Amino acid sequence: MPKYKIEFDREVCIGALACTAVAENFWPKAEDGKVDLTNATYNEKTKKWELNIDEKDYEINKDAAEVCPVDAIVITKIEDQETKQESTENKEEIQNPNENQGNNEKQNTVENNSFSINNN
Ligand code: SF4
Repeated sequence: MPKYKIEFDREVCIGALACTAVAENFWPKAEDGKVDLTNATYNEKTKKWELNIDEKDYEINKDAAEVCPVDAIVITKIEDQETKQESTENKEEIQNPNENQGNNEKQNTVENNSFSINNN
């Protein structure tokens, strides 16, 4: 699962190529003198190029972001969203035992009734 999202604002890129020097595979020089983010997709809403990356590619891209003089590269952790989802799932799991408890009580009542009937 990807854990980080790179957002590249190509509009503000001035083609300093500092990112290319750090991670050429991710930030190759483009024909117009700027760079491209390899395999990125364009987000029409944000007007930025986006790419999800794994933990193993985080450090090198973080370095690329840090050397960019115009902060055209922003990396955010997306693991947080997954963690929130997991907590919600855990809450549901906690609720289930309560429901079972309710069922057990019902069962006990039935058993007690049966016991009474047998005694009569
Ligand atoms: S370091 Fe920043 S300004 Fe320079 S090429 Fe890379 S993204 Fe563009």
